[in-house]
Amino acid sequence: MNKRVYNFYPGPATLPLPVLELAGRELLNYAGSGMSVMEMSHRSKQIESLVHETESRLLDLLGAGKDYRALFLQGGASLQFAMVPYNLLAEGGSADYIVTGSFAEKAWEEAKRVGRARLAASTAGDNYSRLPKPEEINLDPGASYVHITTNNTIYGTQWHWYPETGNVPLVADMSSDILSRPLEVSRFALIYAGAQKNLGPSGVTVVIIRKELLEKSPGHLPVILRYDTHAKNDSLYNTPSTFGIYIINLVLKWIEGCGGLKALSEQNSTKASLIYDAIDDSGGFYRGHAAADCRSLMNITFRLPGAELEEKFLSEAERLSLVGLKGHRSVGGIRASIYNAMSREGCEALAGFMHDFRRRNG
Ligand SMILES: *Cc1c(COP(=O)(O)O)cnc(C)c1O
Repeated sequence: MNKRVYNFYPGPATLPLPVLELAGRELLNYAGSGMSVMEMSHRSKQIESLVHETESRLLDLLGAGKDYRALFLQGGASLQFAMVPYNLLAEGGSADYIVTGSFAEKAWEEAKRVGRARLAASTAGDNYSRLPKPEEINLDPGASYVHITTNNTIYGTQWHWYPETGNVPLVADMSSDILSRPLEVSRFALIYAGAQKNLGPSGVTVVIIRKELLEKSPGHLPVILRYDTHAKNDSLYNTPSTFGIYIINLVLKWIEGCGGLKALSEQNSTKASLIYDAIDDSGGFYRGHAAADCRSLMNITFRLPGAELEEKFLSEAERLSLVGLKGHRSVGGIRASIYNAMSREGCEALAGFMHDFRRRNG
């Protein structure tokens, strides 16, 4: 195959073509250094300034202001499931978890190994097809923090409002929707995201943390697990994924070139509408998993009438270069992951195929 496909995989996921092209051009000789960015010491001036530049670019794009740091760590969002409670769950205290999907469940389970973690709300009873209503969320005003998952990658739901937590720090796993829309960062004490959905390649996890939280880590916590270690060392305490950070920087520049988060968010809405319309106009042939008011603009989940038709749908789609559409086993059916870098043409191609497939099989 020598042409690029439309990649709907949930993560690692499609990256902007101009970013890949530029990285390809710079692969052997980065910024006139005579070597690849992969071959450079993380103690070199070039890498130091690359990390600084990427941090400020990210905070600027988010409008995060001076009260925040951005860190580039490893271990995936999964390590954050543990680092968050290790650093922020006060001795003898308790944290609140709002559980809206499998990753939220994992985060909650991990926190319970560290300390007390309360279930403040869960929509497991509805197979995570929706988010809790405000009145279903039972928050502890004395909690060390409240944890949410802003986009539920597997189920295709996304928060379109955030719970009011008063003085309790709000912590969010934004792995699958970070930078997909404007964000009121000041509502959050800590945001984390594995890079491999909306930011870059796997191997880097972004943590955006309010500076005052850096002082909260218990003294006995190992050095490598402390947010303050990574903040003091500008994400260079140990050897980070230098190539991953380099790609993130290129992706951030690409987002600036697209007109920033507001422009991206409009494009993302348009892209998602193309596919949701194909579901809603299908006379029940396609059935969406997510409740209409909780639909994700990043991961669109739906079923067809029967497993056989779903198999047929997937194999015909693949022949049209629409790949990575198989749903997660806990939902079944189809999942179209349409992160920032998925083009409008890709969504049009999928929507067109959906209309055509229904006409032939409905
Ligand atoms: C993909 C994903 C994760 C898992 O990330 P890893 O980097 O594999 O640890 C966690 N949370 C959400 C919301 C995700 O989409």
